[in-house]
Amino acid sequence: MQKPLYFIDVILPIPLERLFTYSVTKAEYGFLQKGMRVAVPFGKSKIYTATVFNFHQNPPEKYEAKDIHQILDSEPIITNTQLDLWSWMSKYYMCTLGDIVRAALPSAFLLESESIIKLNSESEIEDSTLKDDEFLVVEALQYQSSLKVDEICSILDKKNVLPVLKRLLDKNIILIEETLYEKYKPKLVRYVRLNEIYNSEEELNLLLEKLKRAPKQSQIILSYFTLKSEINKPIKVSELIKKSAATSTQIKTLIDKSIFEEYYLQTDRVLFENTIKSESKKLNKHQEKALDEVIQSFEKQNVTLLKGVTSSGKTELYVKLIESVLSQDKQVLYLVPEIALTSQLVTRLQHYFGNQVAVYHSRYSLQERVEVWNKVLNKSDKAKIILGARSSVLLPFNNLGLIIVDEEHEQSYKQFDPAPRYHARDTAIVLASLFKSKTLLGSATPSIESYFNATKSSKYGYVELNIRFNDVLMPEIELVDLKDKYKRKRMKGHFSDRMIEELSEALENKSQAILFQNRRGFSPIVECKTCGQAPQCPNCDVSLTFHHFKNELRCHYCGHKIAMQQQCFACGSIELDSKGFGTEQIEEEVKLLFPDAKVGRMDLDTTRGKYAYERIISDFEEQELDVLVGTQMLTKGLDFRNVKLVGIMNADNMLNFPDFRAHERSFQLMQQVSGRAGRTKERGKVLIQTFNPLHKILQQVSLNDYESMFKEQLDDRYNFKYPPIYKLIKITLKHRDYNKVNDGADWFAKSLRQVFKQHVLGPEFPPISRIRNQYHKNILIKIPEKQSLSKTKEAILKIKNSFLSVKDFRPIRVLLNVDNY
Ligand code: ADP
Ligand code: ZN
Ligand code: ZN
Repeated sequence: MQKPLYFIDVILPIPLERLFTYSVTKAEYGFLQKGMRVAVPFGKSKIYTATVFNFHQNPPEKYEAKDIHQILDSEPIITNTQLDLWSWMSKYYMCTLGDIVRAALPSAFLLESESIIKLNSESEIEDSTLKDDEFLVVEALQYQSSLKVDEICSILDKKNVLPVLKRLLDKNIILIEETLYEKYKPKLVRYVRLNEIYNSEEELNLLLEKLKRAPKQSQIILSYFTLKSEINKPIKVSELIKKSAATSTQIKTLIDKSIFEEYYLQTDRVLFENTIKSESKKLNKHQEKALDEVIQSFEKQNVTLLKGVTSSGKTELYVKLIESVLSQDKQVLYLVPEIALTSQLVTRLQHYFGNQVAVYHSRYSLQERVEVWNKVLNKSDKAKIILGARSSVLLPFNNLGLIIVDEEHEQSYKQFDPAPRYHARDTAIVLASLFKSKTLLGSATPSIESYFNATKSSKYGYVELNIRFNDVLMPEIELVDLKDKYKRKRMKGHFSDRMIEELSEALENKSQAILFQNRRGFSPIVECKTCGQAPQCPNCDVSLTFHHFKNELRCHYCGHKIAMQQQCFACGSIELDSKGFGTEQIEEEVKLLFPDAKVGRMDLDTTRGKYAYERIISDFEEQELDVLVGTQMLTKGLDFRNVKLVGIMNADNMLNFPDFRAHERSFQLMQQVSGRAGRTKERGKVLIQTFNPLHKILQQVSLNDYESMFKEQLDDRYNFKYPPIYKLIKITLKHRDYNKVNDGADWFAKSLRQVFKQHVLGPEFPPISRIRNQYHKNILIKIPEKQSLSKTKEAILKIKNSFLSVKDFRPIRVLLNVDNY
């Protein structure tokens, strides 16, 4: 009789369509659970961390199952609900489970197999037989006993070093070693305590007597006691050093003498200070009514949209909902589009909920993300409320009671690249339903989709909150006609006379101003006045952008940079002109116009570090700054008390953006920036500079007319077959070779047309068709409401597979983007 066999199917953290099967022993079979990690061999020499997904006793048909290397967990670190959600995502967004695992798990959880190269001590090396690059590797290995493959890449300054390594291997000069290592090490803090024997008063007195001739040492001991009585907590070495003004050597002496003992504790890296809890605010009658309506709506609907004007107190309403969920001992997920929002919000939530709030986002270090992951998994009291960006929908929740999606219209909820190209709002709705819980979407300017779902198709419940807190008036919005201002010479730089007047008034009244410019950098393009050439990125199909501060030209797509040119690179002329303008230039101009004003700037360039946002925001809050110049980062729900004026420097470049959502987005953006003005007693003022003051969107913005904007946009979407009426799937082909992309795209589109007829658009090169030396070509598929989405996807996958089985097309990368934004 045949011995019984045991198998597991695992998810490998690489984009494989299928699960992979490995064989395990009977004991391992009994021990393993779904969601545990195992180290497995893959291919010739790779080792991966895989996630256990299935158990069975059927050997795979097409290959022989290998044994696993090792079990890495004693408990699952991924929950069944997560795996259910991820299976849904993989089907819906047409990506692999491996893609999702990579996006979800902090990479410290994905033990990596990294090839380590060593010299073979057995072999004699004859230098003269080595080629130059081989010699460099051998030489480097004489200084360092081992090197990783990527280190060798940088030593040789090339990407593909495998041929060199292979030659050295063939000559028996080097060895390859595969090692697994755990990247995550909890950060430890050093503490001291007094040796136990000095708990006896007698011994302590003896000690102090003995130390009479070492006054510093006795002083350290006394400081230790003072600290002990003050804080009544374990004492950190660093605190003791500070308190006693000692050096670490002096402390070490006491440790060496066994007077002190040192020990280490793991820190919670996500520490919050000043956590004095206070009661949540009493809602006013409008908020009270809206809250009741939300609760009622949740009795019938799983999802409810709250459309509340800026500063109406949506956040206070969320707080009430959170309180009631916490009282049932459940978790809450509070999604925000970007991290710019969180600093103010964290403080606000901590005020009410103390250290039950945990923050999760990609700017956090690996360790911090691992800690939050574990807290959520273990239902820690310190992670009752998770405040996070997009990827926090992938956390291991176990009794999630409510999801709030704030600023639900924001496009940063959708991931573009790499896969999984998921939408966090839509994924959140599925996640909540797996827990039979509710999702609240909030926005002052809902996305066309959500408003449609709430008011036209009744998929969602709908609640409005139309009055600003304290009945503060909506700001007054004025359109400034740039064509006229230029003609009548009423411009200084990019500032119209109206903008200058309003800005001086605001500054005179000691109130603050925000100036919005939808571009970073100084003046994006430097153009020769003589021959019209502008320096281009060598890797991408775009002009380089001038960055004044560093005096360099940079590509915003691939990061390529060169020093600013003094002369035209083409004709040598020294007359260079700057076209367009960015935040940096506006900042310079304000400083020239108002030399006494303190000006700050907030854009991608000034907010790279982890706390950079926080610093700029708090400087503005504390009124250390009078004027804040920024990009769309400024729009996202910030609550500043003293802003009187908001200036939009140029509305046209947003309106003219070639995208079917450009108008919707411009409306949202301008309304949101305007919402930063006059949030307290005094009415705010918004100035919008434009060459098209009659543009419908600008009229709708100035009248605060969301309804008309929605109606008009929806008509367009009907006419041109766009969401929410039709669904979209975008297929992008990428390759270095222009002709290959072209031919491939034609083939792909032709096959699609046979199935989907006129609903296939393209193939078409996007406005920027070459990025990082890769040509892109897009095909768009529009899916009518009645057409089955899953059948459509099946057909696309089938065509993709036959495409990739054509030898010529195999090297082309095919990217699928469902619900393309
Ligand atoms: P939104 O999220 O709709 O933009 P917020 O919740 O930020 O509005 O509220 C705007 C301001 O009004 C905040 O400073 C908030 O603290 C204050 N506020 C809102 N509701 C109340 C209330 N019921 N009592 C006291 N202050 C409130
Ligand atoms: Zn020139
Ligand atoms: Zn580039």
